[in-house]
Amino acid sequence: MRCIFCNKFDTDVVETRPSDESSVVRRRRECGGCLRRFTTYERVEQLPLMVIKRDGRHERFDRNKLLKGILKSTEKTRISLEIAEEIVTKVETKLKQEDGTDVESQKIGAIVADKLKKIDKVAYIRFASVFRRFVDVEEFKQEIRAIA
Ligand SMILES: [Zn+2]
Repeated sequence: MRCIFCNKFDTDVVETRPSDESSVVRRRRECGGCLRRFTTYERVEQLPLMVIKRDGRHERFDRNKLLKGILKSTEKTRISLEIAEEIVTKVETKLKQEDGTDVESQKIGAIVADKLKKIDKVAYIRFASVFRRFVDVEEFKQEIRAIA
């Protein structure tokens, strides 16, 4: 790695330490030219999560897109932006743990619907109406009856 002070290429690692985040490693480096030290943070490159759409196309998992989809359903409910973001994070973590790198979009919708259902029925109904295919139709009818 190039020295940030003198631009020479020969820097040595003098210390390696894991940082608070387990996927990040902190390294102290010393330049062989000017002897100055600096710190680098190395991050493990995660494999991207790929979403398989209904038409079979693959698309990179997009947090913001999922968040927007959720926010459309949560307007004027008790689900705040923070909660919606938390749902996205939980969904992403769950998918990475269970499915590795490929996941069907329907499954993502089903997980989100399930989480919304536990927090706010109105948001759940709205989400499920838009993405009806994600939920069990009979169960969905019961839910509507329950809040009607
Ligand atoms: Zn240097």
